[in-house]
Amino acid sequence: MSGERLTIRGQVQGVGFRPTVWRLAQEMGLAGDVRNTGDGVEIRLWGEAGDVFVDRLRAELPALAEIEALERAPISDPAPDGFGIVQSQGGRMRVNVTPDAATCPDCLEEVRNPLAHRYWYAFTNCTNCGPRFSIIQGAPYDRALTTMRDFPMCETCAAEYGDPADLRFHAQPVACALCGPKAWLEKLGGGAVHAEAFSMMDDVDAAGGAIMNGHIVAVKGLGGFHLACDATKGEVVARLRERKRRRGKAFALMARDIDVIRRYAEVNADEEALLTSPAAPIVLLEAKAGMLPDAIAPGLGRLGFMLPYTPMHHLMLRRMKRPVVMTSGNISGEPQCTTNNQVRDTLSDVADFALFHDRDIANRIDDSVASVVAGKTRLLRRARGYAPQPIRLPDGFDSDMQLLALGSELKNTFCLVKNGQAILSQHMGDLENAATHADVEHNLALYRQLFEHEPAAIAVDRHPEYLSTKRGYDMAGERPVIEVQHHHAHIAACMAESGLPLDAGPVLGIAMDGLGLGDDGTIWGGEFLACTYHGYKRLGLLKPVALPGGAAAVREPWRNLYAHLMAEMGWAEFAMNFRNLDVFPRLDAAPRATLDAMIHSATNAPLSSSCGRLFDAAAALTGLCWERQNYEGEAAMLFEAALDPDALNEPDDLAYPFAIPLMGGRGLPYIEPLAVWRAMLGDLVLKTPVGTMSARFHRGLAKAIVAMAKRLASDAEIDTVALSGGCFQNATLFMLVEDGLKGAGLRVISHSKVPANDGGLSLGQATVALATLSRKEKAHVSRDSRTDR
Ligand SMILES: [Zn+2]
Ligand SMILES: [Zn+2]
Repeated sequence: MSGERLTIRGQVQGVGFRPTVWRLAQEMGLAGDVRNTGDGVEIRLWGEAGDVFVDRLRAELPALAEIEALERAPISDPAPDGFGIVQSQGGRMRVNVTPDAATCPDCLEEVRNPLAHRYWYAFTNCTNCGPRFSIIQGAPYDRALTTMRDFPMCETCAAEYGDPADLRFHAQPVACALCGPKAWLEKLGGGAVHAEAFSMMDDVDAAGGAIMNGHIVAVKGLGGFHLACDATKGEVVARLRERKRRRGKAFALMARDIDVIRRYAEVNADEEALLTSPAAPIVLLEAKAGMLPDAIAPGLGRLGFMLPYTPMHHLMLRRMKRPVVMTSGNISGEPQCTTNNQVRDTLSDVADFALFHDRDIANRIDDSVASVVAGKTRLLRRARGYAPQPIRLPDGFDSDMQLLALGSELKNTFCLVKNGQAILSQHMGDLENAATHADVEHNLALYRQLFEHEPAAIAVDRHPEYLSTKRGYDMAGERPVIEVQHHHAHIAACMAESGLPLDAGPVLGIAMDGLGLGDDGTIWGGEFLACTYHGYKRLGLLKPVALPGGAAAVREPWRNLYAHLMAEMGWAEFAMNFRNLDVFPRLDAAPRATLDAMIHSATNAPLSSSCGRLFDAAAALTGLCWERQNYEGEAAMLFEAALDPDALNEPDDLAYPFAIPLMGGRGLPYIEPLAVWRAMLGDLVLKTPVGTMSARFHRGLAKAIVAMAKRLASDAEIDTVALSGGCFQNATLFMLVEDGLKGAGLRVISHSKVPANDGGLSLGQATVALATLSRKEKAHVSRDSRTDR
């Protein structure tokens, strides 16, 4: 009988892959064995029907498994008896670490079935679902190295764990009410709670009851705590905002099922698929007007909804036909709490009760945030459910070089490269915060251990003051440090996740972003770059305008408006023509002399081509966000949310007139908003609705970006355009630009797997650094070969 060896790579370890193979082989009467290897799974098969086996394997893959490559080769060994699962030999297994996954339908069924062993058990999970990354403390991924080690399995669980035919074969966190973790409700700030007092089933159910009764409850989830309250009660939501000291920024919501979500928001088929996927992210959905208190997402038209992703959440929300606020359990600015004692210490003034449990959270991981734009899933925050799943790098990046890229200052992530794969950390937040640093340290140590990673080089942003850059130099020792320009990294990240090979010809990269340090000492953020992984050339930009006050201008939108208006017309003309507008006394009250001095002497007022700051100025002019942004991007988000969709159908010439002149001296074309401010002020005089003005601004800017791109692409003979940078999370701007470019016959690539914002930056840094090193290596080799001759 002939034999065959199948070598499979992908997400195939720790996801129930071997039991599936075992079951198929049993059903088909095949002999052989299956084992985990260093980077995948190896199957040996004897018997007929090899093709049928492969087809069935692909068709019946477990929920979390993914095959990237499958190779087949004949073998001449004699056939064994039957089919076995072989323990890996020699050294330790490098079992891939998979992301946490939402409760699967089988487990949910069991939790709801009064006859089942795990009826009503809040920590039910199996091979296809449950915690993984959030409980892991070291490699290999084995119960003894997770926070489940405190819970010895009972006989029932141990039998299931050891049976290849069982759904829970080698599911490390398997547990039941007899042997596993337990949840309990505690009154914060002293006092006992008795579930009986609520006359409910148990403490989890009682937590749901407390929420329905208008209480704020801290809930221990998979990767951290949430603060939960009834989203329909305006005064409770306002109380939560007050106590948590969180202004403006939207609260995420959780609802029992899709039907509840549909009552409050529009859900299309793509969005439903995303909500119910094993990653179960927060999905941004178009809100139905007037259904929830404005305090949930002040000024915004979209709501962030997720579905329950643990049995505990399902049980807690079981009786609730309305959505619940589920915002991260922290005081504004701090990372999410992960331990019961942190909550007792820091949140007892915020929450009335806490739903605790006794399974420790080993690794903090926030909820992921995603949306569906132009038919594609776009991650805005990549964390629970996605990290640390590797992203395979495109062709040419398959060297065995190990490298570490340290990301940006804001929305920090880091990226490990190993065996041609990019392992991107979860979103950790802004490095301005000291506690976030501790999180980065923890995660760097963890990832390096889990993935046995020893970087040969380190990639950082070119900005010397970024804490991530400083960390890179501190860690480097003898290793080379490669500095990567911020927007080059944005575009490279987009190229890499779109599969462009290492030696791909240039793309036209359009980076519409906040701020990043440029080559010329100014601050970039609205760039048109001819990009390969190896390098870039700046071909065009948004007009550079002063940032009066530097960092203060990032927080305070009116400063950008002042700089733009003074660049356009100066104070005397502005005062003469627009004295009657609301904006006049507001700017008149500003310390104009100081600002003018800063701008003229260019002290503490660096020039910036940032698209984000242009949006800030526009939002300030319409009065939507003037004094201070409560969170990064607030002004731009409010300005987009105010947009009246009907106004997008106005005649084309009403779009605001951005021009594209050439910059003096250097001859670079730039997008010039001078005439836009005059048009907007004119619209204010005419009392044009803000929604119309927002539409005209978005259309005008998109038209200018498209016109610039067409001209540059044609001059440089480039046919592919890459869209990246935080401003492209503005769905309106993105869609207008993408449509325009496609209409012009250009190929457009954009983000899906990593965020367009700084959260995706470490991936781009990694690929640029690898390209730089590969070129150096080649140069080295060719030099050597010359010497040989
Ligand atoms: Zn399950
Ligand atoms: Zn058990």
